[in-house]
Amino acid sequence: MLKQKRALVTGSTSGIGLAIARALHAEGVEIVLNGLGEEDEIAKLREELDADFNGANLMDPHAIAAMMEEVGPVDILVNNAGMQHVAPVEEFPPEKWDAVIALNLSAVFHTTRAAVPGMKEKGWGRIINTASAHSLAASPFKSAYVATKHAVAGFTKTIALELAQSGVTANCISPGYVWTPLVENQIPDTMKARGLSREEVINDILLAKQPTKKFVQPEEVGAMAVFLCSEAAGNVTGANWSIDGGWTAE
Ligand code: NAD
Repeated sequence: MLKQKRALVTGSTSGIGLAIARALHAEGVEIVLNGLGEEDEIAKLREELDADFNGANLMDPHAIAAMMEEVGPVDILVNNAGMQHVAPVEEFPPEKWDAVIALNLSAVFHTTRAAVPGMKEKGWGRIINTASAHSLAASPFKSAYVATKHAVAGFTKTIALELAQSGVTANCISPGYVWTPLVENQIPDTMKARGLSREEVINDILLAKQPTKKFVQPEEVGAMAVFLCSEAAGNVTGANWSIDGGWTAE
């Protein structure tokens, strides 16, 4: 069913976005990659996925507008690019706050507003926003991240209602901890903020959240995205799907 479809997956040069792009590609979806990275790594990914690429910096609304213009209409929009910054609120650098808001939240609005008219015209579309367990629950020292992920969940519900009769669905996927560079890179700041060793951060902070005591696999998130794009998921809209090893059940 997905063979004639075209998807833009933001932040797909790494981690969860790459896994979603791979999973959609395996279903025959034409992929447009976006993200940062080394030129030769990106060239390899383009070849692997037979994909187009646009390297727009999603913190810049003008760059997003230019990307959406260049990419043209898409059937599937996966807003996945995101960043983390870990610090107590009184030490949280204002420029980091602005950066997290720009990438994790405002970019989702800018791509969505540009993609929706084409989806409405076709009477079919899928918008998937990678939110987080942090769209449902908080952790200390992640004020900007938690604020943006809660906001993305609210934004997704709102557009799902606006688009409810148009054939376009909008949903969040909310992973718990997935072992990607985003998680690995926050370990040093978490060690500093909490005065813990690397092992203590992994076992006592990260995996402590997940009753399964396992990291979520990027491929599992990819499979969930494929289902949300399927015809069988046509009535799933405005939902926030957890894939968090039981974290938010507690
Ligand atoms: P990652 O760091 O592996 O990948 C982030 C992607 O975003 C990369 O492709 C990167 O190049 C891209 N990116 C970063 N800044 C960008 C910018 N300014 N413009 C364009 N692209 C940019 O991270 P990940 O863990 O795969 O995270 C992907 C999404 O999943 C994020 O929204 C994150 O908040 C969310 N998430 C991750 C986890 C986790 O445990 N890893 C859990 C819940 C939610």
